[in-house]
Amino acid sequence: MLRELTDTHPDAHCELDFRTPLELAVATILSAQSTDKGVNLVTPALFARYPTALAYAEADRAELEEMIHSTGFFRNKASSLIGLGAAVVEKHGGELPHTLDELVALPGIGRKTANVILGNAFDVPGITVDTHFGRLVRRWGWTAEEDPVKVEHAIGALVPKRDWTMTSHRVIFHGRRVCHARKPACGACSLAADCPAYGEGPTDPVQAAKLVKGPSRPFLLARVGLADDGEPAPAPADSPAGLDAAAATPSAIEQDVP
Ligand code: SF4
Repeated sequence: MLRELTDTHPDAHCELDFRTPLELAVATILSAQSTDKGVNLVTPALFARYPTALAYAEADRAELEEMIHSTGFFRNKASSLIGLGAAVVEKHGGELPHTLDELVALPGIGRKTANVILGNAFDVPGITVDTHFGRLVRRWGWTAEEDPVKVEHAIGALVPKRDWTMTSHRVIFHGRRVCHARKPACGACSLAADCPAYGEGPTDPVQAAKLVKGPSRPFLLARVGLADDGEPAPAPADSPAGLDAAAATPSAIEQDVP
């Protein structure tokens, strides 16, 4: 399944835009109860206005709340960002620390956020257990644990450490695009042959294909031999359209799929 996941989601990556560890920490805090796409709309202006931890520490609360309003829970998030800035300045000289223990001690940063930061800003392998990740690994029988920390440890024991970060992205990509909470697209899923939960969603390819989301949809359908309408794709050698679908790569995919 890991191999198939890798081949199915060659474009898997952190879908939050950032340039520095601090920016990723801020974006991840804002992503709670919001979509990555929504966060990415807000962060360019935010990062320009608050380029350092000190800038967040000294932020005018009303102005900060206004800038992040659209991401929801803006009062709590503003408190987290101001507290994060102050703590990073006071305890870490203005630089975000890069150990799990130090990160989770900062305001607004829980274990999930810390693992996102470690894996994507510091290249320290981390497993990100969000709602998609937990649902999928339980469906696949990789663990029966419900508690995110226990899930993290269970999957950490199954997957080589060097693959933790990318496996997290691939599982989350699959959860956002194919294996949805209510109606997983089983009939159009490249993992179907190995999945113990096959049949939890529609197995009819035409119905299932409609459930596959995101800009890489043609690529995902082509991987299971389907055209855009869920009908079997024409043989590549006979059809330029089939060739296009088979050859489609989900390059430069930046659009978030909640
Ligand atoms: S077969 Fe169905 S339940 Fe299994 S991974 Fe695919 S979409 Fe999810």
